[in-house]
Amino acid sequence: MKNEALLIVDMSNDFVHEKGSLTAGEPAQKIVPYIVETAQTFLENEGLVVVTMDAHQENDAHFELWPPHNVVGSWGQKLYGELETWYEQNKSNKRLFYVPKENYNAFHGTDLKMILNGWNVDKVHVVGVCTDICDFLTLAGADANGFKTAVHDRGSATFTKHHELFLEQAKLCFHTEIIR
Ligand SMILES: [Zn+2]
Repeated sequence: MKNEALLIVDMSNDFVHEKGSLTAGEPAQKIVPYIVETAQTFLENEGLVVVTMDAHQENDAHFELWPPHNVVGSWGQKLYGELETWYEQNKSNKRLFYVPKENYNAFHGTDLKMILNGWNVDKVHVVGVCTDICDFLTLAGADANGFKTAVHDRGSATFTKHHELFLEQAKLCFHTEIIR
């Protein structure tokens, strides 16, 4: 997995926990073991792991579209469950990163491209939520920045009926590899 990075998108309490303010609920909770296992495999095989996380101020204009979520420093913005535990255990690993983002697309206005270029990454794998929102737009961002892309069927989820549609749409638009 040298030259490859796993991006874990938006797996916060607000997006995953049953009490989260904008939760994808059970479909999002079910992908957690797969994500932890995949992240572990990346770290053990010279890959990079980047936790990308929505980070909003309380007065963010984004909240005219969505209920308030992932406010910086809140419980809702914390990584969900087992992922938080895994992150805490591994955060001293130099190949594990945390990148806060204000946009759906984890490349927009962040250091993500610089980090990936610094490690000669040429392929980006996306897991997390939601398949048809932040995952898709982060795949679009990766593609626009010159990275090859992959999305993991068992590592991504959404609250809509469009999971499969957006996997196929990524394949169509960005030649994204769908890992099943
Ligand atoms: Zn948001």
